[in-house]
Amino acid sequence: MAGGVEVFIGADIGGTKTLVVACDETGREVQRQRFPTPTALSEGLQQLVAAIETVAAGAHIRAIGVSIGGPIDRRRGTVSPLHQPQWRDVPLRLLLEERFRCPCHIEVDTDAAALGEWHLGNVRESPLVYVTLSTGVGGALVLDGQLYRGASGAHPELGHQIVPNEFGDSEPVRCACGASNCLESLISGRALQQRFGCSPAELPAETWERIGRILGHGLRNIAVLYAPRRIVLGGSIAAAAAERLVPIVVASLHEQLMLVPVPAVSLSVFGAEASLWGAVALALGYGQ
Ligand SMILES: [Zn+2]
Repeated sequence: MAGGVEVFIGADIGGTKTLVVACDETGREVQRQRFPTPTALSEGLQQLVAAIETVAAGAHIRAIGVSIGGPIDRRRGTVSPLHQPQWRDVPLRLLLEERFRCPCHIEVDTDAAALGEWHLGNVRESPLVYVTLSTGVGGALVLDGQLYRGASGAHPELGHQIVPNEFGDSEPVRCACGASNCLESLISGRALQQRFGCSPAELPAETWERIGRILGHGLRNIAVLYAPRRIVLGGSIAAAAAERLVPIVVASLHEQLMLVPVPAVSLSVFGAEASLWGAVALALGYGQ
């Protein structure tokens, strides 16, 4: 890349894979890197820095946006993603700002994805709820282009609401969040892999019916609490199974929502890469 060129970096650090992309000031992709997220913290940070250097290819980095699993401390810029046990209280913002001499913005991945949907995907229907179905389950709420934030900036954990278990287990399914039978414990990619021992793509239609009904209960709860105009589904599992899931979920909402309007339900315009493009949105300055 020629000297003097500027790039914006988006990095999505997931429980299983990390994606890093360099974009121009309009959000157009220039170059990307992808690698399995290492379990070890030092290796993970090393590979992240190397990937940023590779995609920047010598260009000046204007800003870095990072999306990562919660919880994060936005004030201190530290991250402690639930599913990466070695990443605890990591001062990621400081590390990247010192290494690359540019501003770094970090958000919980689903918050970033919701911002990306609104600002880069032009899905501007408020209130907008974003729900990800990936290694984990999470979500975010956007009101007129601004993220809804809880007390002290806390990120609401839509994936950890308790829902009826359509798998019919005799025992409750425990989750690290402290509850049992939450959405994440039942239908996250991790939970499905543990339960069925195969990739989600190999599951039969009858199982997808149950997964869709469980997700439908969760979206019904969200709809009844927030009366959103649209619910966007993102994440690798939602993207791979959208044709199976969306009709079941929509039917479930129509059955169970008598008091509030049934929200439109659609797949993220960025498919399985919603949180990556959310990170790009952060780098471009949205959501600050
Ligand atoms: Zn949970």
